[in-house]
Amino acid sequence: MTQTAANPAPHVLVTGSTRGIGAAIVETLTAQGARVVGHGRTDGAGVIGADLAEAGGADTLWARALEQLDGRIDVLINNAGVFEAVAVDAPDDAWQASWGRTLQINLQASADLCRRAVLHFRARGGGGRIVNIASRAAYRGDSPAHWHYAASKAGMVGMTKSIARGYAIEEILAFAVCPGFVMTGMAEDYLASRGGDKLLADIPLGRVADPAEVASVAAYLALEAPGSMTGAVIDVNGASFVR
Ligand code: NAD
Repeated sequence: MTQTAANPAPHVLVTGSTRGIGAAIVETLTAQGARVVGHGRTDGAGVIGADLAEAGGADTLWARALEQLDGRIDVLINNAGVFEAVAVDAPDDAWQASWGRTLQINLQASADLCRRAVLHFRARGGGGRIVNIASRAAYRGDSPAHWHYAASKAGMVGMTKSIARGYAIEEILAFAVCPGFVMTGMAEDYLASRGGDKLLADIPLGRVADPAEVASVAAYLALEAPGSMTGAVIDVNGASFVR
């Protein structure tokens, strides 16, 4: 990407960038010349701390990111997420708490940030981009302990398509990425808990994805994808779920 006075470095907010896919996205975008602000649960180097489990956490994050990026954000990448198990026969309060937490972090906080982004893009004109990191689970479903995770990611896909359809005319573009297994902290725990070999047998490519592979897709959507692609949902799953 060549930056000029007429074509300045895009300003990007990436949520959940302390490790895994988010960290890879920040690395890829920075290498491509973007000015990136990252995010995690707590403040750190290059990272704004905001707990997305709390109502209002996303709005606080947006305000602080806008300040750090001199009042301009061109791209929002919603990557933060949790993959927490709850059994169908768990105590009622644990079931309710787990659903509430997963939907709050994975879907509501993403929606709150998308809302802030759309309002910001509209107010300043000139469009903008949203990239939502969803999951193969949105289409395929997930394990018996992860109904809520699959539901949150399916919600994210529906939201992305609604934004794409609603604001394309204003050059506000929205995309979703649906990874299968990606070798991060989250995937390592899951693979270990469910028998790695059996899971790998379900992936025709013979391996889980590398975070850099998901990051390259997210960076393409964030910086380069043509406007006509808006509303697209891109699979990155080694052909483990082909739709
Ligand atoms: P990860 O667990 O390695 O990292 C998650 C990030 O989200 C971290 O930076 C963490 O700080 C942040 N986060 C979690 N809860 C938060 C909270 N309450 N407040 C603020 N930040 C919070 O995850 P990952 O494997 O890199 O996954 C990134 C995204 O990709 C997630 O949305 C996940 O659902 C999705 N995904 C991952 C896989 C996989 O196999 N790893 C597959 C499909 C989709």
